[in-house]
Amino acid sequence: MPKFAKRMDNLKASEIRELLALTADPSIISFAGGLPAAELFPIDKWIEAENKVMKENGAAALQYGPTDGYKRLREHCITRMNKVGVKNVEADDIQVLSGSQQGLDFMARIFIDPGDYIVVESPTYLGALNAFKAYEPKFLQVPLDEDGMVLEDLENALKNNDNVKFIYVISDFQNPSGKTWTMERRKGLIELANKYDVMILEDNPYGELRFEGEIQPSLRSLDTEDRVIFMGTFSKIFSPGIRVGWFNAAKEVLEKFNMVKQGADLQTSTTTQMILAQFLDDNDLEAHIDSIIEVYGKRKNIMVEAMKKYFPKEVTFTNPEGGLFLWVTLPEHLNARDIAVKAIEKKVAFVPGGAFYPDSPEENHFRLNYSCMSEEKIEEGIKRLGEVLTEAVK
Ligand code: PMP
Repeated sequence: MPKFAKRMDNLKASEIRELLALTADPSIISFAGGLPAAELFPIDKWIEAENKVMKENGAAALQYGPTDGYKRLREHCITRMNKVGVKNVEADDIQVLSGSQQGLDFMARIFIDPGDYIVVESPTYLGALNAFKAYEPKFLQVPLDEDGMVLEDLENALKNNDNVKFIYVISDFQNPSGKTWTMERRKGLIELANKYDVMILEDNPYGELRFEGEIQPSLRSLDTEDRVIFMGTFSKIFSPGIRVGWFNAAKEVLEKFNMVKQGADLQTSTTTQMILAQFLDDNDLEAHIDSIIEVYGKRKNIMVEAMKKYFPKEVTFTNPEGGLFLWVTLPEHLNARDIAVKAIEKKVAFVPGGAFYPDSPEENHFRLNYSCMSEEKIEEGIKRLGEVLTEAVK
């Protein structure tokens, strides 16, 4: 029998895995995953970039490369950070990652001894909780209201607990809630982190995907003491299949990241990094992002309009200004896991909200994704979900 490490006890197979497996069935209308719209992938332009790299620079592209990443690609990461308001970054301040998910694992590896605290938004990204749990932290859940984390609760969490290693935040179009922090909350968070000497991990995969209004300044751009660690990714603005993200932080944190990166996989694929840099040199990513925004914004509006039409009035939901997800709240006596089972019978899937809390889950929420289903399927799926909900609230 395999004798597994004790820490594996913390990692339970996700209860929602079965549900997500069902969504591979093409007859199911799935609002469960977080997949970008595949029809927008610029496949021909990627092939052109790949051919160019292989013809002009094939040997280098197929060779090992530096651990911190391919320089031309790191320069493109800077362009992305400029877009969310971070101005004073240089290529040497960027560590390329194999997806930002890798950065979540590295953060825990670098900062967490068993029993240390991590502050998280409540709810928060399920994949982050799973990455962190392997390193045996304790979680302090701080509730979100419409404007971001409730700062009084955050201050209490920081005041009452030693060994808070970092505050994990998705301040723009959060997964799962779709919520975005106001400027006041952003500044308040930085002040509290300074006061209690805690690092902030800003996970920012969605900040550029804003349908309306102005892009918000990232936490890193408001950082006054070099304590915000920024993670970005090409997954949602280009493609998740290439597995390229990046990380920017104070030099001493970057050094640690570089060391664990070497231990984890030496480097992110040279081939992919060089093709991606070529693609970005030769194509207009801003125009591509605009086309993503147009499609997702439309789908989100169709979903929200359908929800207004078909959902009973006891059920409320967020109306995000960007990103891929919205968050539904049921009357407290209803459990979204039961609703999910009934919805599957009608061939509609979503993720019950309880999965997005490390402890004491609130079970009367669920997450809906609107990025990867056609407008017709969104309308039909929400109509069927409305029937299930109308029955449930009776
Ligand atoms: N952070 C958040 C908040 C996410 O929603 C995701 C993907 N769903 C990730 C990180 C991981 O993204 P990737 O590894 O593809 O960059």
